[in-house]
Amino acid sequence: MKNEKAVVVFSGGQDSTTCLFWALKNFREVATVTFDYGQRHSEEIECARQIADELGVSFKVLDMKLINQLSANALTRDDIEVKEVEGELPSTFVPGRNHLFLSFAAVYADAIGARHLITGVSETDFSGYPDCRDNFIKSLNVTLNLAMDGRFVIHTPLMWLDKSEVWALSDELGAFDFVQNKTLTCYNGIPSTGCGECPACVLRNDGLATYLSQKSAGVSE
Ligand code: ZN
Repeated sequence: MKNEKAVVVFSGGQDSTTCLFWALKNFREVATVTFDYGQRHSEEIECARQIADELGVSFKVLDMKLINQLSANALTRDDIEVKEVEGELPSTFVPGRNHLFLSFAAVYADAIGARHLITGVSETDFSGYPDCRDNFIKSLNVTLNLAMDGRFVIHTPLMWLDKSEVWALSDELGAFDFVQNKTLTCYNGIPSTGCGECPACVLRNDGLATYLSQKSAGVSE
């Protein structure tokens, strides 16, 4: 793998930035692809661009706003509240979004001669998104190879990690401070620890607190 080229599906958030550091460790050349689907906060794309610049990797934005012609959701419409109700899919859910994005990323990867795709999806914190699950990723990997006569390998370094373990991984990769200070996960567009109140901030900050308490107790290596 070390001699090969990889494409990271990149949003500038904690998960995909950790994946970017993982990719930089494992591949000779790394490119990023970011999807513009009319996020409520364009800060997200700007943040992704700055991180890519700082790490010296190529940055490609694909216009995916057409997805909003298909469905309404809280990530793109500010008249829909970001909320999570037990037993229901979150209001941020766009059906099939990950499927579409990964398929476009594969076409881009093929165009630039990369066969490795890296995505930060996780079954542990998947919030009910079926296209973040491991069985879907494995199925898509087969489908992409059939569709494009390719030898794609989809890597999901975070698949079985919870948020505190994602923090541990960024630390192992020497990227803890970078991820903590420079990424944007918050649904309200505030970088680093964010607004502290939206579901994305709560997940991120709870994971961080758990990781730091385990680390100080000497549980983690
Ligand atoms: Zn927030």
